[in-house]
Amino acid sequence: MQANKEILLEVDHLYKTFAVKHHLLGHRVGTVSAVNDVSFTLYKGETLGLVGESGCGKTTLGRTILRLVEPTAGRIIFDGVDITHCSAKQMRSIRRKMQIIFQDPYAALNPRMAIRQILEEPIKIHHLAESKAASTQRIAQLLDYVQLPSAILYKYPHALSGGQRQRICIARALAVEPTFIVCDEAIAALDVSVQAQVINLLMDLQKELGLTYLFISHDLRVVEFMANHVAVMYLGKIVEAAPAAEIYKNPQHPYTRALFSAIPTIHPSKHKERIILQGDVPSPSELPSGCYFHPRCWKATEECRSIQPALAQTAGDSHQVACHFPEVN
Ligand code: SF4
Repeated sequence: MQANKEILLEVDHLYKTFAVKHHLLGHRVGTVSAVNDVSFTLYKGETLGLVGESGCGKTTLGRTILRLVEPTAGRIIFDGVDITHCSAKQMRSIRRKMQIIFQDPYAALNPRMAIRQILEEPIKIHHLAESKAASTQRIAQLLDYVQLPSAILYKYPHALSGGQRQRICIARALAVEPTFIVCDEAIAALDVSVQAQVINLLMDLQKELGLTYLFISHDLRVVEFMANHVAVMYLGKIVEAAPAAEIYKNPQHPYTRALFSAIPTIHPSKHKERIILQGDVPSPSELPSGCYFHPRCWKATEECRSIQPALAQTAGDSHQVACHFPEVN
């Protein structure tokens, strides 16, 4: 444990595989490895940014941690409780503390419910208000948190802008008093001008309510701004993890270096040479031997093709890299 920090979430050698079935006969013809031996620790009040190309397993990892998808192996310890094998009934009370905000706020809201009903529903389900007046008061507080006027309560989702809908999704998540929120590409569908407002709102709420975030995003600039720590995923594995300031200054895994070289900058002194990755991401049902990144890596050797590198501590205090030949600046 780091000094003065309390652990909220421990993910320990987590795996999630899916069976690939024959499209006509229905029997198993293979396995997709979506989350492959992932371990990390998340401290209370902090944000872990999870980055990587689409299809790398970020979303499945977020959903497996919340037990929306059943883990294949490994352990998930939330607030000191091993929730890996909790029953659906046990998960009901635990899940109140673990919420998720999705990418598409329109699809996440029931179009037939007015905003008041949408916010009232979780309060009712979890018996969080003793009376109608208490529920009304709580809804007013939620609108206050997400900075929306009370007139919005009588509207339906289709009458709201994308930014307002996402604020309602955030308010609905907050209704059950969570301590942990998975933000799954939560700003990706919003206009750029609205994205900044929602990011600032999430950060203000984190300070005010002591929230802990797993912030899944392909937007590396937003993650740099939001996250305390960053983990980079490739084909279901974390290939590099470090404090945000450290990893952006000194990425050591070739994949991270390629990913970060694509971050646009207008500052000439910060201009980096763009690394264009060759080839496509291999299929997670046919994983390469050795290091999964070797078919696209310009530094690959015979060792890389045959031995899988473990995620190991490098020179930095809490900088971990899964590469036989990390590059240190
Ligand atoms: Fe490249 Fe080898 Fe490092 Fe994999 S282990 S990232 S192939 S240098």
